[in-house]
Formats: sequence, structure tokens, C-alpha cells
Amino acid sequence: MFKRVLIANRGEIALRIIRCLRDMNIESVLVYSTADRKSIPVMTATQSICIGPAKASESYLDGDKILDVAVKTGCDAIHPGYGFLSENAEFARKCEERGIVFIGPSWQLVEKMGDKQTARELMKRHGIPIVPGSDGLIDSVDKAKEEAAKIGYPVLIKATAGGGGKGMRQAFNEEELTAAYETARTEARNAFGNDAVYIEKLIVNPRHIELQILADKHGNVVHLGERNCSIQRKHQKLLEEAPAWGLSAQSRKAMGETAVRAAVISGYDSVGTIEFVVDAEEHFYFIEMNTRIQVEHPVTEVCTDVDLVKQQIYVAAGKKLGMVQDDISVRGYAVECRINARSVGKVELLHFPAGLGVRVESSLYTGYEVSPFYDSMLAKIITSGRTRLEAIRRMRRALEELVLEGVETNAKEMYMLTYQEEFVLGSYDTSFWGRYGEKIVRQAEDSNGYS
Ligand code: ADP
Repeated sequence: MFKRVLIANRGEIALRIIRCLRDMNIESVLVYSTADRKSIPVMTATQSICIGPAKASESYLDGDKILDVAVKTGCDAIHPGYGFLSENAEFARKCEERGIVFIGPSWQLVEKMGDKQTARELMKRHGIPIVPGSDGLIDSVDKAKEEAAKIGYPVLIKATAGGGGKGMRQAFNEEELTAAYETARTEARNAFGNDAVYIEKLIVNPRHIELQILADKHGNVVHLGERNCSIQRKHQKLLEEAPAWGLSAQSRKAMGETAVRAAVISGYDSVGTIEFVVDAEEHFYFIEMNTRIQVEHPVTEVCTDVDLVKQQIYVAAGKKLGMVQDDISVRGYAVECRINARSVGKVELLHFPAGLGVRVESSLYTGYEVSPFYDSMLAKIITSGRTRLEAIRRMRRALEELVLEGVETNAKEMYMLTYQEEFVLGSYDTSFWGRYGEKIVRQAEDSNGYS
């Protein structure tokens, strides 16, 4: 097993990894930017080293600098968390070159699966259902029009390098297509330095259901059930739950088996997520694979009692999976709310909820300065229960208990969200926020006088 692991990340996920390393009796070396000097991860890691200024390109994204620190401090491995370098094949390759284990799949896999079009083609070749779409990349508006006409409107222009909902545009007819094509490309060029796009049929109001995969370097693959992540704002997840309510047992089984097959055909050997969109008739289509730990992994951990970060570290060290599919059972229900900052500034007072069925993942504290430099997520609140309603009630209780003063957040909106009938019924799809978002925001604003 590793003796010392470098963490190339910050915030809640850095803390999550440090905690796990402590559980495993492994030393942690945290690299941080000047903006994060006064952070809980810096205080809790075995060793913390400042690697540069707030600007991510000069700190958290500077792979060479991070690798130098890893070598100098005698680390055996690097955990990239999510975001930053976690899906950077070049970085993973450099880790290998310098004899440091990248905690994730091989760089070849990161490269292959990170390119959505390549991943789609691979899945298609092996009979995994994918969203109908263009065969290859689209390099002109004329070609886009031609392909869209073949696929049939509405369509979605997608950046092959896309992530975080960026580089994606809908078009309901040919008039909209030109603008959608151009904006998707421009956005992708700016965000990923790669403006290659392809076209998919837009599945109208699908559910986003993803399968958690765990695989080792010895050919063993299991899945740990699904998560419903359909509550999204601008293609970004706000609330996730496990298991997916209302999914038939037959579809659940088929999706699990398909996800395992997708992992097998790609030669996958780490934790990963297979994402599907699911239509009203429960036809499901592969959209992409994420080759890293996901933000929403705790809902799966809560329901399966498997420590995914620990497993990720184990398999990266070459250990065999200590479980087979039959060992995994999904028990109860879990819901996660993402608490995002709406302003920067100092956290004047903080009290996190606790109690039965509540887990909080965050590195916030009273006095913490929320900076504008990084992702706006401040905390994840995860609640669980024997029934889905119990998990939801506990989420309401947790959000009522939360005190976070000095910084504006979406906490009240998340609270109001948990009262929407469609959410309670569990019948929502990705159109949920579009249909109820404004109402929820209004209700949250109106409730200000009562808090
Ligand atoms: P990203 O990598 O940017 O997160 P994804 O490919 O995972 O992009 O898609 C993000 C979200 O966009 C999905 O969760 C889903 O809500 C929506 N989406 C993606 N592809 C389709 C599609 N073909 N039809 C309808 N919605 C889609």
C-alpha cells in the first residue's frame, strides 16, 4: 500500500481524501494556492505545501509543479479529486513517466473516455445504446445542417471535450442551428481549448441516471447502483439521490449490467461513472463516462456502505477488489444537496446540521473567506433514511438547522425545492428546474422574513 499520497485539489474533496488517507494510515501531502492558505485541508494534511498564487493555472492546474512536489516529498501516488487535473490525460501520463501512481485509470483510458465522441464510438461498436447522433465530428455549419436533418430536430450540439455543462447547445430547427453551432464551438474553445463538436438527438425531458462503477486492475468490475441527478440548473447538478425512485426493477438491472459491460469493454480499472439519459419509456442511452470520483459519490456510499475513495486508492495500488456483485446491496435512500455560494466574503457564523441520517462534506468554518477564484460549491449535505420520505424529511430538518451567515447561498432554494410536489413524488426529469426554478427562487425570497 502507498505510504504517502499527494492531494492535487482543494476544498471539500481535498478534506474528504485526507480523512480517507487517515483512516487508511497513509500520510497526506497537500498542495495549495495562496488563496487557500487558511483552509481546513491545509491544517489537517500531514504536510502542506504552497505551490503558487490563487490563479488555478499557476497552482492547482500546474501539473509539473505538482509533480515536482510529489517527487521531492517522496509521495507514491497523487489523488486528483474531481475537476482540475482529474481528467487530464497528459498529467496522468506524466505521473506514470515519473514513477508516481495517478489515482484513477491509466492515462490512455482518461484520454479515450475523456473525448466524448471517441467514447460514444467505442460504446456503439460494442452494442451499448447511445443517443442517436452524428457518426463523427462536425466541422462546418453545412455539415451540421445535413446531419441534424438526418437525425431529426431537436438536436444538441456537444463539444467532444465538454464537461460541467459547457459547450452544449440545443437547436429546435435549422434557423437555431447556426447560432447553436457557433456558440457551442466558441464556448468549447474558450473552456477546453478544443472546439471539436458532434451532434446528438435531443432526448426531450430525460432523466439523468448514472451508474457507479468500481473496477480493479485484475479484470473485476462491479457496479454500486444508480443515482438520479436530474435536478440540474444549466446542465449542472443541484440535487442527487440514490437509488433512482420510480425506475422499474427491469430497467435498473439492465442499466447496471450495461454499465458493467461498458466498463469491461473499455478496460476500466478504477472508480468511474457511466452516465445515461433515460426517456419516459425508460429507454436509456449512454452519454458519457467520468473517469474520476464524482461530487455526488456520497449518496452511493451511504446506500451501499462502501467507501469509494478508499476503494479507489486500493485498486490504484493494484489490490484486487474485495467484493463481487452479489456482495453489494443498496439499502435505504440518500439525497444530496449542493450548497453553492452566491457571493464572496467572510463566513460570519457557521453551524452545520448533524444528527441521525445527516452527513456534511465541507471545509467551511466561521471566519473562512469565500474567494472568487474557484468553484462556488461550499458544502454538500447528504441525508439518508430507510424510506425516501425519511431521507427527504431529514434533508428539510438539516437545511432548517444550517446557519451560514455572511455569504449568500442557495440553501433556502434547496429547502423550498424539497417541498415541490414533483420532487416529493420522485417523478421529476431534467426539465424540473426549468419548470419550477423561478417559483422556487421566489418562494425562497418570500421566506426571508421568517428565518
Ligand atoms: P457534461 O459533461 O458537460 O456534464 P453531459 O454529456 O454529461 O455533459 O450532459 C449534461 C446534461 O445535459 C445531462 O445530464 C442531461 O441533462 C443533458 N443532456 C446531455 N445529452 C443529452 C441529450 N442527448 N438529450 C437530452 N439531454 C441531454
